Amino acid sequence: MRIAVVGTGYVGLVAGACFAESGNTVTCLDIDEAKIQKLRDGIVPIYEPGLEELLRRNVQDGRLSFTTDYAAAISGAKAVFIAVGTPPGKDGSADLTYVLEAARSIGRHLTGYAVIVNKSTVPVGTAAEVKEALRESTDHPFDVVSNPEFLKEGAAIDDFMKPDRVVIGSESTDAAEVMDELYSPFVLSGNPILHMDIKSAELTKYAANAMLATRISFMNEVANLCTRLGADVQMVRKGMGTDKRIGSRFLFSGVGYGGSCFPKDVKALIQTAEEAGYDSGLLKAVEAVNERQKRLLFDMLSTHYNGKLQGKHIAVWGLAFKPNTDDMREAPSVVLIRSLLDAGATVCAFDPEATEMSREHYLGDTIQYAEHPMDALNGADALVLVTEWNEFRRPDFDAMRAALSEPVVFDGRNIYRRKSLEKLGFTYYGIGT
Ligand code: NAD
Repeated sequence: MRIAVVGTGYVGLVAGACFAESGNTVTCLDIDEAKIQKLRDGIVPIYEPGLEELLRRNVQDGRLSFTTDYAAAISGAKAVFIAVGTPPGKDGSADLTYVLEAARSIGRHLTGYAVIVNKSTVPVGTAAEVKEALRESTDHPFDVVSNPEFLKEGAAIDDFMKPDRVVIGSESTDAAEVMDELYSPFVLSGNPILHMDIKSAELTKYAANAMLATRISFMNEVANLCTRLGADVQMVRKGMGTDKRIGSRFLFSGVGYGGSCFPKDVKALIQTAEEAGYDSGLLKAVEAVNERQKRLLFDMLSTHYNGKLQGKHIAVWGLAFKPNTDDMREAPSVVLIRSLLDAGATVCAFDPEATEMSREHYLGDTIQYAEHPMDALNGADALVLVTEWNEFRRPDFDAMRAALSEPVVFDGRNIYRRKSLEKLGFTYYGIGT
């Protein structure tokens, strides 16, 4: 099938590559000319494991191409995916400017019937707005479908190729059939394609992310209680997670959720609820707990140094909001590091993939960047672990102790054991453990 994907970010690029891999002819379009030029030159603008190889293979085989030209991408496409950003507006609601702009541009270039698929995360009612934007810009027939994306950055290709489920909201059997045809190669092992009405599909994405964010905030609340009560959240987590009704996943306490999805989606759902005349006390609490949690590491450091962070030099391991990505949107590392700098400390950070992202878009040259994890520790007064990249899990603790001027570790992801580190002479701080 000939398809177009509008927006070549984390979602659009992965979706485009995976649809090409399953035999479709895919044109990926973006308004960012520099991004498209990079992609044409074989440079992947984001870090996502396996993506480079997948893009290269499909470009070579002639199934995948990149353009900034709407006419070239849309003409003759049977399905057009909208995968542009939906960042939070001032009041927290999803900003639909990019989605509606994309819809109008698609409309202007349709050459016949096409299924317009909304893959961006959008509030209930957006499909109707997209429909209206299209109607104003084309006389060709079309259907609008909601197809929220559930991939996780860092495991995006696997998630897309082997989805737990595919959610499709549509009101047309023709459109539903096109979607079934596109997705059938990804559900051969029997995972379901769930067809539903458009509003339910739109809400499913927010409800799923809000549920996951709730689990994180809940466990952070439990961890904070553990700290005060002398219990160990690692034990409590195991005790809870072995209950089949609860399950063991997404029960890790830490420094709060970040990234491009949970924070903005929780905010947007709160706003959607408000507009519907419903005060979502639970979601507001989820967000408030998370905001507090993101400040926790700084508060712990501040307490350790009796409020005197001026002149301290702190090593930070991990800048990305989670491992296996270079994404730093809403990353807890940024909150911590800015607070440290404001308090007069200096910072040397190491991240396996996010250094360039940080330099260009977040922390610039306000901090030093190390090329190797151990280099960040030289002469540092403490190590703060913010992102649990695998390579931080089994460091050479003797070398760590030798490099640090004071052997103190703030473990924001509970990846080390207090007992082992204390035995080695470190002062150890965990989150509820
Ligand atoms: P992103 O910011 O990485 O990429 C969006 C791209 O859209 C950018 O390259 C931008 O230049 C392009 N764009 C903006 N306006 C355009 C237009 N009018 N025409 C063509 N291109 C345009 O975003 P992302 O992380 O890929 O997220 C996209 C959507 O998918 C969001 O709604 C997000 O909530 C949702 N989502 C993201 C993830 C994730 O893990 N990143 C997972 C599931 C769903």
